[in-house]
Order: sequence, then structure tokens, then C-alpha cells
Amino acid sequence: MKRTPYVYLLVCLAGLGTFACIGSTDDREPATLSKIGADGEMLSAWARQVSGPASASFRPADRAAQNASDSDSDSDSDSDSDSDEIQPTPQVVRPIKSFTELDPEATYVEPSATEILPLGARLDLRSDLQLFDPTFFRVQKLTENTYFININVYAATMYVGRRGVLLIDCGGHSAGQPGPTEGNALLQAVASVTPLPITHLVYSHPHTDHVGNSIFLKQVFPDLEIIASKWAAETIEQFEYPIAAPTRTVKKRFGTFKFEGKTFRMVTPTIVAHTPADSYIITPDRVMHVVDFIHANRLTFVEASVVQNLDGFIVFLRHLAGEEANYDYINVGHLNVGYASDVDLALDYYRALYESWAPSVFSEPVDQFIDPGQDNAVVWFRNFFDTVAERMFFAVAPEFGRIRFFEIGRDHASKVHENQFLHRLNAAAPGSPFLMPSFEPIPPPPPWGP
Ligand SMILES: [Zn+2]
Repeated sequence: MKRTPYVYLLVCLAGLGTFACIGSTDDREPATLSKIGADGEMLSAWARQVSGPASASFRPADRAAQNASDSDSDSDSDSDSDSDEIQPTPQVVRPIKSFTELDPEATYVEPSATEILPLGARLDLRSDLQLFDPTFFRVQKLTENTYFININVYAATMYVGRRGVLLIDCGGHSAGQPGPTEGNALLQAVASVTPLPITHLVYSHPHTDHVGNSIFLKQVFPDLEIIASKWAAETIEQFEYPIAAPTRTVKKRFGTFKFEGKTFRMVTPTIVAHTPADSYIITPDRVMHVVDFIHANRLTFVEASVVQNLDGFIVFLRHLAGEEANYDYINVGHLNVGYASDVDLALDYYRALYESWAPSVFSEPVDQFIDPGQDNAVVWFRNFFDTVAERMFFAVAPEFGRIRFFEIGRDHASKVHENQFLHRLNAAAPGSPFLMPSFEPIPPPPPWGP
């Protein structure tokens, strides 16, 4: 397959991103962070410690010392000075460390393909490290017809009909390469529940870690009907993504499609959020499938779930909150089964981050980041962005610091700052209501909402 190396590269990148959850690197970690550990007392002490000016602020004395040290090293390497090569100073990269735990109050049960999951329970799956095992799968029955399938680190939804199986998403590692990878694990998972063939595949969004196996499934089931929003179809075509082309598109933002006479909803409410084509799908038996917006018992993934537009991401979350009367379980696309409480957690967390933004930007004049010794705007901006994110991270730590994935809270803070900087900072004064987006739920139109 000609495109396989490209596919593999994408998967590797996605894998690296996932790995970052548990072993990323970050050179902005303050020395105090490692103290948080499992010791609850340390959290408040740690938060108090940083209530003053952020530690990452530029101080001329530091810069003077740094310049002196740079000059010293220049003179040490004079023998190489004939070369025109640029030799940037390497930054010291220190891996971040895990300091949060999964909610100890939650009920964890063994996955079962025959027993319906009690509402509110989470699955007792292997640790996050299962993501390195491409043969791993587990199946959980959610309703009479709908199942949660966990394959490696990805999750698909299976709806078993009378004549065939409809899958929502299919993971993606073995695209175009049938073999002992996630594609075959997916087939085994389906076969462990029913001998019926997979006849329909639905895309939540055009990311290959969730739908890359579509090429493999199309090879195994040549008549496979593939359903996606028209925006997903356009995205796949325009960017030539290695994803099987949809055979049927849903053209309305609040749309539906039929499978064996049953109505499924497919809602694609935003112009751009995580991607330009994010859909949530609700099965006839009240299971919502929505990927890369929320996590079960956890905060958001790296870089705010590699978001393309954070305001769109917030609007999308508000739509999920507005649907809370229409679903019981959520397949969040990764790791475990989710609920409406996970949507509320995501909204609360981002509301806190947005609220922390203006105080973090305006608490000190921004010209403190200007280094009179260096005429370079981008260095100024980098220090400014990092400092604001650092202040926001510590501002929300007392409330959210113990929740799983807060280790990458700087990613989330940085994305909020980037978004606010582009969309609000230059038009709205401090205290202006325009500085905050709304976080109110957006109910769907009738007949699904009021
Ligand atoms: Zn995605």
C-alpha cells in the first residue's frame, strides 16, 4: 500500500500525543509541582505559594545573568566560529510527572458483554498503559442493542440490528493493513457478541485514530455503507485524508439517518471546534457517541484535545449539556464510559480557566516581558504567553488540581489564552462582558428539545 507509511506516521503522531498524557515533557514545570503528589495537604500549600506574581515573569537581572553566561559559552567555542551555522541553545526538557488519581469515589465494574452497565458505573479497565497493546479489547453492554467497545486506547459504539451491525467509529491503526492490530481486535470484539456482519459504519469526525480502520473494514465488507456529515465528507476529500469516503452524508446540522428502520440522530452543531466536522450521534436507545470533547472522570486531552477553535469547542460542550435529557450513557471515544457529569465537569473547568484569564493578563503590565537587550517580538510574545498560562494554571489548581489529567493543565490554559488573545483581547476592555463566552446549555430544536 503506497499510503501506508503516511498512515503509520499519523498513527505514530496520534500515539505520541496519547503517550504525552502519561509521560510528556515540559520545560515550564515549577520546582514546586512535584510536591503535590497524593498528599492533599500539599495542594493548598502549593496553591498559596503561587498566589503572588507568577514565577515565570521576565526579570531583567535574570536576563543579564543569562546573557553573561551565553557570552561565556560563546568564547569557549571560538574555535568553531568560522562556521555560519546557527546553534540555538538547547532548552532543558524535564518530563512532567503524574500527580492525580482516578476518582476513588466512583464505582468500577468488570466489563461484561452480557450484563447491562449500572448507570453511573465506570469500567474497571486496565491502566492507561493498555494503549500500547494493539490486541487488547473489551466489550460492555450498555442497552438491549448498544455496546461500548474498547480497543486498545480507542472506543467504538456497536448497535446490533436484526440483519447487521452498525458501528460508530472503528479506531485506527491497521488502516489498509489487515493483521494482528486494532482492526482485527475490532472484528473479534464484534464477533464476541453477534455473528451478524458489519453493514454500516458512522464517522464521528475525520481523525484517523477514530476512523482510520475504515479502509480495512471496507476491504473486509465491500458493501459497507459509510455515513458521515457532509462536512466530514468535504474535509476528507479536500485534505485527501487516508479515510474511506462516506457513501451517505447527513446534510443538516441537526440531522438524522435510518438504520434498519430505526432513527439515529447526527448533530454537527459548530463551524469548527475540535475539527471542522465534529458530530455527536445519539442511538435510538439513548447512548450518545461523542469523541475528543470530554473524558470519563478526567479533564481534557493534550493541547485542549488538539482543539482547532476553542470557542467552537465550548459551544459544542454547551450543545452536549443541552442534550442531557436525551441520553443516559456517553461513549467518549477513549478509555471508559462517560456520563452527563463529565460534560458538566468540562464546562466547569473551562469556565474557571476563562475566568482566570483576565486577572492573569491584566494583573501586571505586559511590558514587563520586554527585554531591552533583545529586539525580538516573538521572544517577548513567547514569554508573555507562557507566563499568562502559568498564572491561569495555578489559579484553577485549588479547584481542579486533583482531577485526572490536570498534569497538562498548562496546555488547556495556554489554549484559552491563545483563543482570548486572538478573539477578545484587542477589542474588549478589562471587566467587559465580551471577555467571557457563555457556558449555558443549548437545547436541541424540537422535537428533541423544548
Ligand atoms: Zn479527534
